[in-house]
Amino acid sequence: MAKIVVPLLLIAASLAAVMMAADEPKPETAGKPLKQLFRGEVVRVSDALKQLGVKAYPEELQNQVALLTPDRELLPILPDWRGRAFFQDERLRDRRVELIGYQKSGVPYLQVLTIFTFDEDGRRQITDYWCDICSIPMYEIKPCDCCQQPIRLRFQPRELPKDVVEHRPVTKIAP
Ligand SMILES: [Zn+2]
Repeated sequence: MAKIVVPLLLIAASLAAVMMAADEPKPETAGKPLKQLFRGEVVRVSDALKQLGVKAYPEELQNQVALLTPDRELLPILPDWRGRAFFQDERLRDRRVELIGYQKSGVPYLQVLTIFTFDEDGRRQITDYWCDICSIPMYEIKPCDCCQQPIRLRFQPRELPKDVVEHRPVTKIAP
């Protein structure tokens, strides 16, 4: 009798393992945070906190910027290769933007991949920097990587990618 029970248990155990494996994320999405569309305005953190009624000393926050969403969610911008432009260039702040980016699980920082701004007529513009001499794009203010000449902020009309997922704020418990 014991001889039959043991193989059955083994089958059950391996079936459970197979079913668990099926629930795991697919390899292409495993570990990769979801790209999302974030809307709002990038503002100085000290100004935003004031608007939100949160008291803080402004000195320690002086260079920090964050996206303030229409839901009044404040998402600090990570100063990486793409987000850094918001720290450097006030022309990108205090205006309506749409950002494609992601937030790594457990990390509050928004990692920006693509910046959209809007012109006076409300037309969406993909926004980066451009060297007219070398015809190469760049993503922060600096002399051109190639010719060392000044670069310009570039706006090009562009629709949103079709597959992008809208960011939803995490539900917060009212204070
Ligand atoms: Zn150049």
